[in-house]
Amino acid sequence: MPLLEQHRRGWQNWAGTQRCEPIAIHRPRSEEKIAAIVSSAAIVGERVKVVGSGHSFTPIALTDGHLIDLRDYAALLQVNRSATRATAQAGITFSAFSRALFPRGLSMPDMGDIGYQTIAGGTATGTHGTGANFGCLPTQIARMRVVLADGSTVECSPHDDPELFHAARVGIGALGIASTMTFRLEPAFNLHAREQPLPLDDVLDGLDEFVDDNQHFEFFWYPGSRHAATKRNNRTARPADEYAAWRRLRDDVVIANYASNATVQLARVAPALAARVRRLAATESRGDYVDRSYRVFTSERKVRFHEMEYFIPRAAAREAFGRVRTLINEGGHGVIMPVEMRFTAPDDIPLSMSEGRETCSIAVHMLRHQPYEQYFAAVEAIMRDYDGRPHWGKLHFQSASTLRPLYPQWDRFQSVRARVDPGGIFANSYLDRVLGPVGA
Ligand SMILES: Cc1cc2nc3c(=O)[nH]c(=O)nc-3n(C[C@H](O)[C@H](O)[C@H](O)COP(=O)(O)OP(=O)(O)OC[C@H]3O[C@@H](n4cnc5c(N)ncnc54)[C@H](O)[C@@H]3O)c2cc1C
Repeated sequence: MPLLEQHRRGWQNWAGTQRCEPIAIHRPRSEEKIAAIVSSAAIVGERVKVVGSGHSFTPIALTDGHLIDLRDYAALLQVNRSATRATAQAGITFSAFSRALFPRGLSMPDMGDIGYQTIAGGTATGTHGTGANFGCLPTQIARMRVVLADGSTVECSPHDDPELFHAARVGIGALGIASTMTFRLEPAFNLHAREQPLPLDDVLDGLDEFVDDNQHFEFFWYPGSRHAATKRNNRTARPADEYAAWRRLRDDVVIANYASNATVQLARVAPALAARVRRLAATESRGDYVDRSYRVFTSERKVRFHEMEYFIPRAAAREAFGRVRTLINEGGHGVIMPVEMRFTAPDDIPLSMSEGRETCSIAVHMLRHQPYEQYFAAVEAIMRDYDGRPHWGKLHFQSASTLRPLYPQWDRFQSVRARVDPGGIFANSYLDRVLGPVGA
C-alpha cells in the first residue's frame, strides 16, 4: 500500500455540521506510521490534521490536506495501580479508557457529559466535567509523546521539554500529534448520584452551597420551566446499585434520547408543544443511585444539535445566567434545548478556558435543523462582558485578535507553536482564524 493513500473521501463531524474533503484519510496502527505520514506530507508541502471522534462542533478538525484518524491506534498500554497512572494510545475513547481502568483499580477523577471523545481529541480542546475542585481533563495528563511537524517524536512532561508539555495539554491540534498519553488517576470509586428537579430560583440563590457542598454539581435549565434539573455526584464507599445499569439504559437511552428524538420531530411542526414536552421531561429525574464513576459521569447522546459554551469567572455565574434567561424569556429565538451550568477549578495551561481563574461554564444548545446564529451571537455578547472564553470545540464567533487579550499566556503558546510547527503543517482555516498565522 502506498504511504499516502491517494483517494478522496469526505469526512464529517458527529453533528453532521462540518464537512471536508481531505486529500486522503489515513488510519495508522503505529507511531512510526503516523510519523511517516507527517514527514511525507511535509516534504511535498501538504497539511496534516489528526482527528479524534469528530465530536467538536467547530471546524477545528477539518482539512484539505491529509486527515489522520486514530481509531485503530487505541490500545491501553500500561497501568500502574500503585502510582495511579495509566498510559494509552491517543485514539482510545474516554469511555473505553475508563471502562478498562475500573477493573484494574483506577478511575479518572472527573469526566465530561459523554465518553465518546478520544483522550487526545478531548483534551486538545480543553474538555471538562464539573466540580469546583476539579480542573479540566487536560490537567490529568502526566506526560505525552508527540509527533512533530518534521516527523520526529518527542516525549514531554513537566521534566522533559516542559514548555511543549505546558502548552500541548490544550494544543487545539496546532502543535503536533499526540501518540501516547499518560494520565494521573485515582483509585477506582463509585459515585452517589442525586438527580433532582429543584426550583431554579432556589438553585441560583444557593449556588455557592450547591457547588461547594458537592464534588460534582451541575444543572440544566429548560426554557420556560421554573425548575432546574440538578445533578449532584459524590464519591461513596457504597457498592453499585443492582439496577443502576438498567435505570441508566431506561433514562439515558430511552427517555433522554428516543423521547428527545420524538420532540425533535415535534419541534418541526409544533415548536410550542415540543417545548412543553421537554419542560415536562426536565422534571423527570433519574433519582438517587450509586454506580461506577464513569457510568455516572457520562451518558448517551443521540439527538444531534449545535452547541456553544462560554467560560466566565465563577463570581459572575448568577448574573450572567440571569441575563441569558432573560434573553430566552424575551422570546424570538425559539429555544427548546437546555442551558447547562458547570464549574471547574483554575489551572495553569496557556489555552485552557479555566486558566488562572475559578470558572463557571454556561452552554447553550439548538437543534440541528434550527438556525442558531442569532441566539448564539446574543449569548456571546453577554459572555464577552465577563471576559468569557469560548470552548475551542464548540461554536463561537471570535478570532485571534479578540481571543488574545483573554489568555495571559497567549504569547507563550504562540512561541511554542512557532518552534515546533514553523511551517504551519498542522494549521487549517479554523486555526488561521483563532490563532492567526504561525509566528503571529
Ligand atoms: C454530545 C457531545 C457532548 C459533549 N460534552 C462535552 C463535555 O461534557 N465537556 C466538554 O468540555 N466538551 C464536551 N463536548 C465537546 C468535545 O468534548 C470536544 O469537542 C472534544 O474535543 C471532542 O473530542 P474528539 O475526540 O471528538 O476530537 P475531535 O473533535 O475529532 O478533534 C478536536 C481537536 O483535537 C485534535 N486532535 C485529535 N486527536 C489529536 C491527537 N492525537 N493529537 C493532537 N491533537 C489531536 C484535532 O486535530 C482537533 O483539533 C461534547 C461534544 C458533543 C458532541
